[in-house]
Amino acid sequence: MKRWSAKTKLTLLYAAFMVLLTCAALAILFSLSNQEILSSVQSKLREQVEESLEDIEGSEGNLKIDSDFYTLEEGVYLSVYDGQDGEFLYGMIPAGFDAQADFMPDGLQTIKGRNESWYVFDLSFRADGYGEVYVRGITSVTRAENSMRVTLRFALILLPLLAAITIITCYRFIRRAFLPVKKMTETVQKIQRERSLSMRVGLPEGKDEIYYLAATFDNMLEDLEESFHRERQFTSDVSHELRTPVTVILMQCEEILQDPALSEEQRRQTEVIKKKAEEISSMISQLLLLSRADQGRQVIQKELLDISELTEMIVEEQTILAREKEIMITETIEEGIYAAVDESLYIRLLVNLISNSISYGKRGGHTEVSLQQKDGAAVLQVKDDGIGISKEDLPHIWDRFFRADSARSDGSHSGLGLSMVKWIAKEHGGDIEAESVLGEGSRFICRIPLPSKEN
Ligand code: ADP
Repeated sequence: MKRWSAKTKLTLLYAAFMVLLTCAALAILFSLSNQEILSSVQSKLREQVEESLEDIEGSEGNLKIDSDFYTLEEGVYLSVYDGQDGEFLYGMIPAGFDAQADFMPDGLQTIKGRNESWYVFDLSFRADGYGEVYVRGITSVTRAENSMRVTLRFALILLPLLAAITIITCYRFIRRAFLPVKKMTETVQKIQRERSLSMRVGLPEGKDEIYYLAATFDNMLEDLEESFHRERQFTSDVSHELRTPVTVILMQCEEILQDPALSEEQRRQTEVIKKKAEEISSMISQLLLLSRADQGRQVIQKELLDISELTEMIVEEQTILAREKEIMITETIEEGIYAAVDESLYIRLLVNLISNSISYGKRGGHTEVSLQQKDGAAVLQVKDDGIGISKEDLPHIWDRFFRADSARSDGSHSGLGLSMVKWIAKEHGGDIEAESVLGEGSRFICRIPLPSKEN
């Protein structure tokens, strides 16, 4: 029951209620109609017989019967018998009825024929000028029962049909009523999928609670979008403002380091300041890129580049840095792979992956960079035998400011690198995934679709 939608549950509830109601109606109809119809047939029989007495008149030993006596009213056959010997005198007897049936004045009898059952009502009557007569009324029980059965059969078809029509109408009505809820769900799903708060449910003006909820939801989205926008703007402004002082610090450090009169200690201290300023500068540029990306302001200039060559160059540069940690970088690069990429973003992506493999690599370890063409995509892989990432942390490494264990890194990491890498891969129509075993190493696989040969 839990897995069913509210729409289905409501319809089922309604359907169950309708079925119950139909069954109850049919049961009542069955039990009541039998008695009701038969007792109405009996009372009509009595009435007809009693009324017929007015049509009988006796004079000078003869009977005069009015023509009305012979008309079949309410299915009642009327007949007159002699009061002395029970001889049939006038009237109509239905075919199949035993004319010799005993008289039972003022009493109702049920007489079974071969194919039919009959109600028989007799009245003893003294006709002036003739003497005692019996007036007999006969009506068919079987016919009454048959007509009742037809009614019941009709009800048996009509009631469930009515119930089915009501259930279908009800389902359509519920579906319409739930349409705004469906729209709201779709909007939320779209927001999740496209990570954009600019969507709105946008229902036309309505008065019911659901429309009110949708309008409130839209207002909330409006507020959220505005505050997100303000936050992004703030990050972007702060990063921008910080860029100049950091550049000045870097330049000053360079200048100080040029001074030959610098003592060994002063040189070491200035180097530390310079290194930290460089890290801040890199963090600022990552922040700026991400906030511009969020605002859709980051300009991407894709051009068809020989990424095999570019990758080789980057690996070469990084090899020098890796040496400090005695990490060996090997490369397996397929030649002549051309892809439409933004050069500086591609460099950032690969530099990030390689520098991570160095930062989180073990001293004397090994990093493998490979680039291959596979299924219409360039597959770039960076594999290391470093400290690895735990299963729990692995899904979060793409989150901003996430650092698996800040104590493990050398303190120069902001936790922004991989979220930037992911964004770059996505912007190039590709994707990136990571595999890792804690203590054994990690592998980052990035796929960038290649332009089709015809283009
Ligand atoms: P950071 O600036 O901290 O390196 P990243 O976004 O590049 O930020 O990486 C996020 C986290 O993922 C890192 O803090 C680290 O814990 C983990 N990580 C990334 N690359 C590797 C790797 N090659 N080996 C082990 N852990 C890694």
